[in-house]
Amino acid sequence: PAMITAQNIAISYPGVKNGPAVIQDINLSIRDGSIVSLIGPSGCGKSTLLKAIAGLVPPAKGRMDIAGVTPQEAAQRRLVGLVFQEANLLPWKTALDNAAFLLQVSDKSIPANEARERAAENLRLVGLGEALTKLPSQLSGGMRQRASIARALTLNPQILLMDEPFGALDAITREEMSYLILDIWERTGKTIVLVTHSIDEAVLLSHEVHVMGVKPGRIVCSITVPLAFPRN
Ligand code: ADP
Ligand code: ADP
Repeated sequence: PAMITAQNIAISYPGVKNGPAVIQDINLSIRDGSIVSLIGPSGCGKSTLLKAIAGLVPPAKGRMDIAGVTPQEAAQRRLVGLVFQEANLLPWKTALDNAAFLLQVSDKSIPANEARERAAENLRLVGLGEALTKLPSQLSGGMRQRASIARALTLNPQILLMDEPFGALDAITREEMSYLILDIWERTGKTIVLVTHSIDEAVLLSHEVHVMGVKPGRIVCSITVPLAFPRN
């Protein structure tokens, strides 16, 4: 079944008067439990499409459906977790508190110790089990990004959206992070949508690659890839 469907989506930003659509004619169907990559040149609308899926930007046209509800509704139910290029951790909080606080502020009914338990579990999943009490300044860039992935996973979303999650990392760390994503996918079965500039990364990491073009921003071709990673 589809986890995300987009039909004829067009988006223009407000303030850009009668703005030309930043993206248009977007049709997508993303299967539950699959990994999908969006690639394309800067400015083609990859982030905009991700923001629309996250319920942060309303489409000007078309229909978008996330697990049977609108993107706004999906965001309210915390069906979607986000990871950005920058980890954006709070510098005065430990890795554990950083991973726990988003869940705590977004669901006051969850007791603090339960949020911290879930955060610790996800930090172990991303390989930071030994770093729970470290501050962001004591972590490498790759470790900070792992902590931001744990923060998103602690919301227990069905969908993980990642916008250039390794864009700020060196090549070796990027490769480690690629395998981390496959590992997370294998263990959790989440639907993952990844924005990347790297065709290598897209092909290694996804079941389907959507290539976007610019002016107008739209999907120009979609490629189905047999996952290269050995899995069993
Ligand atoms: P990509 O992620 O592929 O680099 P974006 O989705 O960030 O592309 O941007 C697509 C286009 O929309 C670009 O031309 C960008 O300048 C424009 N854009 C992005 N965000 C806004 C905004 N908040 N207001 C106006 N224009 C925007
Ligand atoms: P990225 O390529 O990673 O999306 P950008 O530098 O294009 O990074 O965008 C950074 C932020 O600025 C985003 O939140 C985007 O929505 C916003 N933005 C991008 N272009 C514009 C624009 N032309 N007008 C207003 N905001 C923009």
